[in-house]
Amino acid sequence: MRVRRAALLDVLRHGEFRALWGAEAISVLGDQLARVALALLVFDRTSSALLTALTYALTFTPAILGGWLLSGLADRYPRRRVLVTTDLVRAGLAAAMAIPALSLPVLWVLVCLLTLVSAPFKAAQLALLPQVLPTERYQAGLAVRQMTAQLAQVVGFAGGGVLVMAVTVHGALLFNAVTFLASATLVAAGVRARPAPHCDAEPDTPDVAASGASWRRLVPPFALASLIGLYVVPEGLAAPYAGALGTAAASVGLLLAADPIGSVLGAWWASRSATGEPPTWRSVTVPAAAAGLPLVVCVLAPSLVGSVVLWAISGVLSTLYLIRLQAVVVAIVPDARRGTVLGRLTTCLYASQGVAIVLGGVLAEQWGPIVAVAAAGGLGTALAAAIATVRREARPRPVALAEDEPTSGGRTDGRHRSLLRMTTSSGGAPSGPPDLNTGDEVGEPSSRTGNGSGTSMTGAPAVERSSRAGRRGWALWTQPRRFVLYQLGVTAAAAAVSILVATSATIQSADLATLTIIVALGLLAAELSRQIERRRRRFSDTPHVNFSSVWTLAAALLLPPVLISAVAIVLYAHLWVRSWRGVMGIRAYRVVFSTANVILSCQVAAWSARQLGLIPLGQDATAATALTLVLVVVLYFVVNSGIVATAIALLNPGRSVTGLVGSFSENVLELATLCLGAVTALLLSWQPWLVTLMVVPLYALHRSVLIRQLERAATRDSKTGLLNASSWHALARTELERASRHGTTVGVLMIDIDNFRRVNNEHGHLAGDEALRAVGEVLQREVRDDDLCGRFGGEEFVIVLPGVAGTDLVTIADRVRTRVADTEITVTQGALPGSADRLKVSVSIGAASFPAAGTSLEEILLAADTGLFAAKDSGRNRVVMTT
Ligand code: GH3
Ligand code: MG
Ligand code: MG
Repeated sequence: MRVRRAALLDVLRHGEFRALWGAEAISVLGDQLARVALALLVFDRTSSALLTALTYALTFTPAILGGWLLSGLADRYPRRRVLVTTDLVRAGLAAAMAIPALSLPVLWVLVCLLTLVSAPFKAAQLALLPQVLPTERYQAGLAVRQMTAQLAQVVGFAGGGVLVMAVTVHGALLFNAVTFLASATLVAAGVRARPAPHCDAEPDTPDVAASGASWRRLVPPFALASLIGLYVVPEGLAAPYAGALGTAAASVGLLLAADPIGSVLGAWWASRSATGEPPTWRSVTVPAAAAGLPLVVCVLAPSLVGSVVLWAISGVLSTLYLIRLQAVVVAIVPDARRGTVLGRLTTCLYASQGVAIVLGGVLAEQWGPIVAVAAAGGLGTALAAAIATVRREARPRPVALAEDEPTSGGRTDGRHRSLLRMTTSSGGAPSGPPDLNTGDEVGEPSSRTGNGSGTSMTGAPAVERSSRAGRRGWALWTQPRRFVLYQLGVTAAAAAVSILVATSATIQSADLATLTIIVALGLLAAELSRQIERRRRRFSDTPHVNFSSVWTLAAALLLPPVLISAVAIVLYAHLWVRSWRGVMGIRAYRVVFSTANVILSCQVAAWSARQLGLIPLGQDATAATALTLVLVVVLYFVVNSGIVATAIALLNPGRSVTGLVGSFSENVLELATLCLGAVTALLLSWQPWLVTLMVVPLYALHRSVLIRQLERAATRDSKTGLLNASSWHALARTELERASRHGTTVGVLMIDIDNFRRVNNEHGHLAGDEALRAVGEVLQREVRDDDLCGRFGGEEFVIVLPGVAGTDLVTIADRVRTRVADTEITVTQGALPGSADRLKVSVSIGAASFPAAGTSLEEILLAADTGLFAAKDSGRNRVVMTT
């Protein structure tokens, strides 16, 4: 306690601060008195509650306008002069209001003017504070202000009634005028004269705030300030809340006391924790997000004392974050702009409180005051978390992944499907660090440096690549227009459905309990899988394995529709913030699209479940229940996959069916996830605690996918998905041994793209990579499933064809060659944004076979290579067989 007093009182040792603080306290007191007096005056004259309320509102609304427009005066003129002048003007206006027999409209005009003029006063005062206080005392100064403002308000309201009775309404208004004069005197006497800020600023101070860029920097702090509105929703709902708790009317006062108590404690905390350094952004966002959580807990309808404690905790945290926020703003805005910025920040605080209190009322009408308070808290936490991530500096993560470029490759579908679906994806995508082919040869800034260990991926190239890719932009607009329209359409549909179901929502408290369990487990599972995903990203560039449909489907089967959308949004927002943001290849717009997709799939599933009589999911499940459940799962799957397949088709016209619907294993995994979702729903409806049993199997499933992908990563070429050189060698050798044992033949084709350097030169390396992938796909498609296609290096491929030799081999080789030459390759990387280039390439092929060309793999490869040379020599785009 001693320490606290010392820290706070230290501030009062600064004479200038004392003057500013005293002036403010006196004016706040006067304002409150005037409000009471005005209310009595108007009510006395009109007997209209509405007009009285309107007059009261007039003391706030112009503050918003004035705050936004007039705060700049505090930067244009010497601040002391602004303070004294506005005080004198206010004294004059207040005195005019005291004239008896003033008509009401004139009174209102005076009230408006008085409130308008208060804005530059406030701005000048806020801008002066960091000038009169050393940095380490600044937050303590704000804390003292906060405490006295609370006190002055209470005293002003209480004293107002007494004073009005003692000296009549006009006397009270006159007293208000006197308080402004007193304030002016205090400032004039106690605050040092300073020149106007813009002359004051050192010439070399970068005038950050003057540029548009810096206003952008201020968006997160302003957004965070606006959140305070959500946190004052409880105050607006105190009376109905007390009613809903079923406590006596007197308890409203207790509930209302929670905030001032919390705010005094929060102010004290802020002053105690302040150092000479400006607070970190994190130290602002953490309490800002945490402030909503106690309100969320109110959903459990705690006792009155419990509620008061929760509200007070919320008050502590919100005051803490607001004070720190101001210190942050002061740190990033140069003095010459502080009046404008701090004045507007205050305006934001006012305006958001007004808006949120109205909003809280509307919500309370719909859902009752308890849910409205919890919802406001939850929304505040979610928004604060979102804002926290926006401001965080770019942190390129150690991920090796080329862009999420649309390719024409069937083999790379895994990547695209999972990016679009984001629900489940097995490792259908090419991956693997021991890539012998990437990088140095083509001087490409490869993020996968291919030293085989996979550990070098955190190196500089990845960073360079990720920042160069400009992934912070909203990359949706660079996509083909039909794709953009489709994505927007799906998103709009999901939003429309969610809003539609929200309007007719009835939410029971049991629903909220289920919601809490599903969201909590969903978040827990996502957190557990973050570790696996981090490990997986180290060697695999498949974007994500995501089992969240377990939880979203369970939500679809158990919750009212409005909460289903909420679950999807919360889980995806969490995945984005915690796992995906900043990971190369995962774009915000695709996450939005995936969320929309999940919402639509869930709503369809929920709707069909209702139609089929599956809801409410009971314990008396029969064979028919199981069958219907399967039907709903299939429907979810079909809708979800259909939306993804359409997106892929729009992105890559001419894609094969497998390319659109994905590989078998991907789909099985997705179905497995959905089945787990159905089981989860059943368990939840039966005995919620049993659901915790799902978390471990899910974890194990996720790990098994990891193992599969590890295996794939070790054997596949990441660019094309074909076998990499070492695994091709190993498998080819096995084939030769088998052939020599059984006395059969083995054909080998060595394939090199013609004039590939030209493709790179004309379209860029990334487009070259797309072409490589496309050729790889053609090769794979043109041979049998058990033929072994590998990428040997650069733009060279090899194929082992067991049992093929002689003219058969030449025929196949020629077919492959023709197909490649006929294939029109679409590349988007080198093309203008939103468009695509089309190109064709040809290949030269050298063919050789076992045992005709030799008995060892090396001999046969040498023979095939000789054929390839000859093919190139004789003009390219042809096949030469060496025997
Ligand atoms: P040709 O084979 O017809 O004689 O001419 P070419 O231009 O294809 O020549 P060559 O096979 O010698 O050159 C291979 C070129 O392929 C060099 C390099 O720029 C490019 N290349 C190799 N690997 C990659 C890769 O992974 N990506 C891209 N984009 N280009 C590659
Ligand atoms: Mg070549
Ligand atoms: Mg070559």
